[in-house]
Amino acid sequence: MIHRGSGVPTPPRRLLIAAAALLAAACSRERAPATVAAPAPRHVLLVTIDTLRADRLGCYGAVDVATPNLDRLAREGGMAPEALVHVPLTRPSHVSIFTGLYPSQHGVRDNISPPLAADVPTLASVFKAAGFRTSGFVSSIVLSAQSGLSRGFDDYSDRFDVGTDDARFLDTLQRRGDITTTEATAWLAERVQDRTFTWVHLYDPHDPYEPPEPYASRYADRPYDGEVAWSDELIGRIDSALTRLGIRDQTLMVVTSDHGEGLGEHQEPVHGFFVYQTTLRVPFIVRGPGVVAGARIPALFRSVDLFPTLLDLARVSAPSSSETQSRPGRSRAAPLRGEPVAADEDTSFAESLTPKIHYGWSDLRAIVDGRWKYVLAPRPELYDLARDPSEQSNLIDTEPARSRALRAALERHLATESAPAGSRASTGPVPADVVEKLGALGYVAVGGAPDPSAAGADPKDKIGEYRTFNRLLREGLVALREERYADSAERFRALASHGVDSFEAHYYYGRALAGLRRWREAGAQFEQAIPRLPAFSASYLALADCRKEAGDLAGAVRALERGRNAVRTDARLQRRLAELRRDSGDFAAAERDFRETIARDPAEASQWNSLGMLVGARGDLVEAERLFREAIGREPHEARYTYNLGLTLERQHRPAEAAAMFRKTLVNDPTFAAARDRLAELGNQ
Ligand SMILES: [Zn+2]
Repeated sequence: MIHRGSGVPTPPRRLLIAAAALLAAACSRERAPATVAAPAPRHVLLVTIDTLRADRLGCYGAVDVATPNLDRLAREGGMAPEALVHVPLTRPSHVSIFTGLYPSQHGVRDNISPPLAADVPTLASVFKAAGFRTSGFVSSIVLSAQSGLSRGFDDYSDRFDVGTDDARFLDTLQRRGDITTTEATAWLAERVQDRTFTWVHLYDPHDPYEPPEPYASRYADRPYDGEVAWSDELIGRIDSALTRLGIRDQTLMVVTSDHGEGLGEHQEPVHGFFVYQTTLRVPFIVRGPGVVAGARIPALFRSVDLFPTLLDLARVSAPSSSETQSRPGRSRAAPLRGEPVAADEDTSFAESLTPKIHYGWSDLRAIVDGRWKYVLAPRPELYDLARDPSEQSNLIDTEPARSRALRAALERHLATESAPAGSRASTGPVPADVVEKLGALGYVAVGGAPDPSAAGADPKDKIGEYRTFNRLLREGLVALREERYADSAERFRALASHGVDSFEAHYYYGRALAGLRRWREAGAQFEQAIPRLPAFSASYLALADCRKEAGDLAGAVRALERGRNAVRTDARLQRRLAELRRDSGDFAAAERDFRETIARDPAEASQWNSLGMLVGARGDLVEAERLFREAIGREPHEARYTYNLGLTLERQHRPAEAAAMFRKTLVNDPTFAAARDRLAELGNQ
């Protein structure tokens, strides 16, 4: 199915003719592309606008959303009239963009998957190795350093004001785009003389749709479009900054997205459930050195093509791909440079595992080959995208031969997935840290990929339930955040009564029950949550709290030991274990645990203080003094640490130093009565 350099030019397909006609209408004043010999770009700027449907942009045919900046970029540079992603979810799709690999190859298949494996080259790591200064500015917590995407960036800005509140959908934690773009352009301003690679991720079109003015008023009845118009303004601001810095003509600027949005079509409100074009079709626009004005890619452009295309345009050679991670994409730089090329097509594959992972229904797989699209589901679907771009008319019964051919091609692709070369599969128990690395959702079998043939309900038949569940989950989370625990527990109880058995349903039900101090019931929910997402530390911490509150200290210790073994990278579990052992009087074990947690993560000051107290209590004052000084070195203004050091010095018969430390304690906290008493005892030191 994959045509590569066969030498026989394929005639452009009807879909592309239709798209080209559309473009001619939208951008009618273009000159014919001409080949240019341009220098390599000094700067490369990749902008991903999250959740951006191609058909909302003027240059893709929209007539009622104002996107003047993106339209201008597409006029001054080139674009792909048909661009598709492989999975309608933020983290997996971005990882495909950055690695040139399908989700089944890079292994990141959900927004809460463990990080990308450290040996997979990414755009950032390749640019960095080629001598570029690199920076990333992301606006969603789903793309924080925990995703593994920060690798290769000299600077990575992923700070979010999460506070102590995690009772919300992870993917709604976001930062407004103007903050992100301001940071990014400030970074660039310092480095105009370097070669740079910068990634700016804007999250604004993602739900909730809350565009700022004037877009809120202008698009009052369709706020998603308002977010698109606002994002276009941000693109304009970035472009103005490039001009102001004098680097506009040396900058290769790429704008694309990780997925679209359902907006109610096919009854899908947002994205991540179905694999229709509403959520798979995105823009791809590029402008800069080497790209001729008005260039169009006369073939399907896939997320996996971005990696080789961008490196090609930047004249950076791509690392050779390994046997296990053979990159399926191809460079589409030639048509962007204005070189004549045949309109040869590649096939594109897409997946949605959400119905299976989170609800136990069937997963969905799709193949797009030119104008035809086949969706593998319990009741499969076939669409003619040229005639029926909104996928209303299922031709599975009227085109049986075509259906069989596409299904066979899709199954060949899936066969490579279930038995990856250099297999991740192994026999016997998989160590916890390996599970964590591979994608440790509860569903992941040995071998890393769910069985695509496993029976489950057709998601088409479950969309009503899915919407109900989503509503209950959202209402439950809002109630939890507002500390209306009874309301929250009621929503999650309803979800459980529907048979929803996901990690989220159990974990947040547990949180609501804990809020009601129903410790044993809450603990039972956390026990259900743990095997469904074993790498999530907070479940073990919460389970330990419930058991401790219910008077079961030994059970609390067991929960933390289990968590420590499952999530070796999170020092909080070991630290809590040490505290629990100290509180239950097992001082020797507590001391050993504190030393282990300090070895793992020395930054946290409180553990140095805790260890100092244990060591001091058994009379080793010299060592205790050293430990308190370590704590103070990390948090000089914490009165408890300076007080403890004062006590240790006093016990070592060093009254002058002790008095100085008690005085410092009172500076840190003037209400610290014990320090005042000690100072009085010491007299006039
Ligand atoms: Zn996204």
